[in-house]
Order: sequence, then structure tokens, then C-alpha cells
Amino acid sequence: MAKTLFKSFASIPAMGRLYSAKHNLPKYMKQIDSNFSYEYFVGKMFALIKMMIFSDDYENLAIYEGQPMQNKLKNVIDIDFSGVIRLNSFNVNGIYCYVDMNYYITDYIYKNNSVHKRRDELHIKVCRNIHTLQNPNFSLKRVECKSCGASFDATHEHNCPYCQSPYHLGDDDWVVLEFGKV
Ligand SMILES: [Zn+2]
Repeated sequence: MAKTLFKSFASIPAMGRLYSAKHNLPKYMKQIDSNFSYEYFVGKMFALIKMMIFSDDYENLAIYEGQPMQNKLKNVIDIDFSGVIRLNSFNVNGIYCYVDMNYYITDYIYKNNSVHKRRDELHIKVCRNIHTLQNPNFSLKRVECKSCGASFDATHEHNCPYCQSPYHLGDDDWVVLEFGKV
């Protein structure tokens, strides 16, 4: 796809109000990915949310490329997704696409020797390189180092274990930039 194509919608502003994610997200995403599937994307983002909730170590987690922080949801033992999301913003800046959303979920919290059910709203902002949107063969378990060409499991790596070059998952797949309770 030609680069000029992206300029026309390079900055769709954050409206600051609830608009229909189900209608708008495919409209925006199909401009950069003709095969975009809303259901697949929403499920994929929920998988990222679960990884963020159930990981102790964000520092070595490849799917997280945001500011250093601790997991504040460590007492969550399970999570259900309502199926409803709010799209806060979508924009393309250079070769990267950014999607900012809120997920409406039910979480189960272990506290005082019992499990409590709670409705929550989680904020997640993700990013990826728009030139690799259509790569069905990509696997986090087998990424390729852009410097030395070695392949390795990047689940818990931010650097290539062979040549130590930084590996940015955002060039191959969606990564989390911001995450937390609203
Ligand atoms: Zn390498």
C-alpha cells in the first residue's frame, strides 16, 4: 500500500465520548488491514489483558512496551469479558497504529479467604507496525531477530538472546503501551 494512503486519516481525534466501537473500529482498521475482523481483534486484546493481569514481571514481558510499572491487579484470579468495549481513540502515526480502548469486565478477586465478584472497567492502549498487519504466520514463540536473523521465543525477552539487539514485538504484533483500572 502506498504511504500517501495513510496520511488522510493519520489523526482521527479522541472524541472523549462513547462511540460505537463495533461500528467505528472496523471502519478505521479496514483502511490499513482489509482482512480486519472485529471479533478476532477484540478477543486478541482480551488475551493481552489476561496476560497483563496474570504476569508478575512486566519488565521482561514482550507484550508490554509501556512505562515501567508493577501489576496492580495481582489479586484477580479470574476474569470474564462482557463483550462490550469502548473505543477511546484510533490513530496512525508514521508506521505505527494506536488503539485506545476500555474493556467492561467482571473480575473475581481473592480477598480474606474468599472470592469476590466485581464489575470493572479496564483501560488498554495498544500499538503495532501497520506494515506487518497481514502476517498470519507470526508467532511470539518463534520470532526472528532483525539484526542476526536468529529465531527465538520472545514471550519473556526484550532482547535477542544471541546478539542482544533489542527486539520490539510492536514491529510484528500488537503490544500494550498502557494498562490499568479506570
Ligand atoms: Zn539477534
